[in-house]
Amino acid sequence: MSPTQSPRAGGARRGPQFLSRLRERPPSIWYRGEPVRDVTSHPAFRGGVHTLAALYDLQWDKADICLYDSPSSGQKVARSFMMPRTLEELRSISAAMKVWEDATCGMMGRVPDYLNRALTGYAAGAPFLAEGDARFGRNAVRYYEYLRENDLCLTHTLIPPQANRAVSSAKQADPFLAARVKEETDAGIVIRGCRMLATLPMSDELMVFPSTLLKSAEEDAPYAFGLCIPNDTAGLRFICRESVDYGRSHFDHPLGSRFEEMDAVVVFDDVFVPWENIFLYRDVVRCNQAYARTGAVVHMTHQVVVKNIAKTEFLLGLASLLVNSIGAEIFQHIQDKLAEIWINLETMRAFLRAAEADAALDEWGVMRPAWDPLDAARNLYPRLYPRMVEIIQQIGASGLVAMPTEADVKGPLAEDIKKYYQAARAEAFDRIPLFRLAWDTCLSAFGSRQVLYERFFFGDPVRMAGALVGSHNAQIQQYAEKVRAFVKVNRDEAFATSGKPDSR
Ligand SMILES: Cc1cc2nc3c(=O)[nH]c(=O)nc-3n(C[C@H](O)[C@H](O)[C@H](O)COP(=O)(O)OP(=O)(O)OC[C@H]3O[C@@H](n4cnc5c(N)ncnc54)[C@H](O)[C@@H]3O)c2cc1C
Repeated sequence: MSPTQSPRAGGARRGPQFLSRLRERPPSIWYRGEPVRDVTSHPAFRGGVHTLAALYDLQWDKADICLYDSPSSGQKVARSFMMPRTLEELRSISAAMKVWEDATCGMMGRVPDYLNRALTGYAAGAPFLAEGDARFGRNAVRYYEYLRENDLCLTHTLIPPQANRAVSSAKQADPFLAARVKEETDAGIVIRGCRMLATLPMSDELMVFPSTLLKSAEEDAPYAFGLCIPNDTAGLRFICRESVDYGRSHFDHPLGSRFEEMDAVVVFDDVFVPWENIFLYRDVVRCNQAYARTGAVVHMTHQVVVKNIAKTEFLLGLASLLVNSIGAEIFQHIQDKLAEIWINLETMRAFLRAAEADAALDEWGVMRPAWDPLDAARNLYPRLYPRMVEIIQQIGASGLVAMPTEADVKGPLAEDIKKYYQAARAEAFDRIPLFRLAWDTCLSAFGSRQVLYERFFFGDPVRMAGALVGSHNAQIQQYAEKVRAFVKVNRDEAFATSGKPDSR
């Protein structure tokens, strides 16, 4: 089904519809050298897939918060597709996004809301895309409506493979290493090569958009495109990393067994993309500006801050339970560490509040959250999250490894375990699942991948900080001028009577 065909659109989905579409139209996913026939039952994927299905059910359980009436069909659709025109509508979107992030402890950055916000931004900024080619603007709006009315789930892939970061895609050993246009016909284009990463390959459609700054209008043109295609498109392949779950029990891997999103390299083996699915093409300048001009980056970051709040609330609750269970609250440095997490939480809440309070209608008539607090949040959280994980390690200490499995607690040593694993304020069989949760947060493969995710998923923190300084330079210079004036007063005072040494 493509956005030009008339879809049997049913509006907001429930879990079974999400699962059946994945079974009917399986993406070409490869895991440990083999194609995955059914991600809904494969042990490496089914935990995350069934959590997503539960989220689709949840949006109907909380329909008044999570859904709204489609402006085109009138049926209920996910609120994360809303183009807000008022502050109230904007706040209703963050309230809806919080529902899924709460349900996943903030550990699923790629709940469909994230890219629903991106696509909504692109569709809102369709006039900007249309300036490149009128068709592209129309395509963005049509595709957005198709996704909204069918409630499909997107993954996305932005950056070229990490072969040689010192040179551009065109200058790699093979110019087709990074995905590039191989051919153009009346019907569309053919893409060959690869993109570095897509989290959540077990989704319905793939957004292929530019991210890294393209520098040369001529040389980079074959790498400059923005398009969306179904995940089962011929020639498209996802090569996955090793799963952090692999069908383990909720008791042993409380987070990994539920929230494994999976990451994959995306291979385009001469993938044909019809013109209807293309939003940006061979226009390096427009590709570089698209995220910012359309507002997509702001709407995505809005979702990210909601995720940060849910995740930090989870960490604060977890840290507090750990402290309480082992009677560590009497130690001052423990109080200090709890305070640190609380301050981080309030900081994220303040950013969200400021972004919404200072929201304004943008050039497309959409109520756009203020960028500065969101920009600060996206630069700060990659620094805060690893530190909070460290705090969980510092509180839990050896309790994080002195930790039996489900098989142990049900085995012949259960009596030993009952006695020796007790805590000051928790029986062994309450303490063990709590500490397993802490371990999965701060020590397991799942926990480590979360740290890497928070460090990098929105971009290289070093270059994000550089972009921040660059884009706020005028504001920074205002403060520099104030300090310069202050310094000048002191200098002038000092040399008022004697004159400057070099002027004598
Ligand atoms: C868990 C996870 C999930 C992700 N999910 C997705 C996804 O779904 N879709 C997607 O498109 N991307 C995804 N990403 C990729 C993410 O966008 C990148 O990690 C990020 O943009 C950084 O790029 P890189 O990883 O290629 O690092 P590189 O660019 O290869 O950087 C490696 C190192 O070199 C340094 N470096 C490289 N170039 C420069 C430079 N020009 N100036 C200064 N320093 C430089 C970096 O600072 C870094 O220390 C994900 C990443 C992670 C870790």
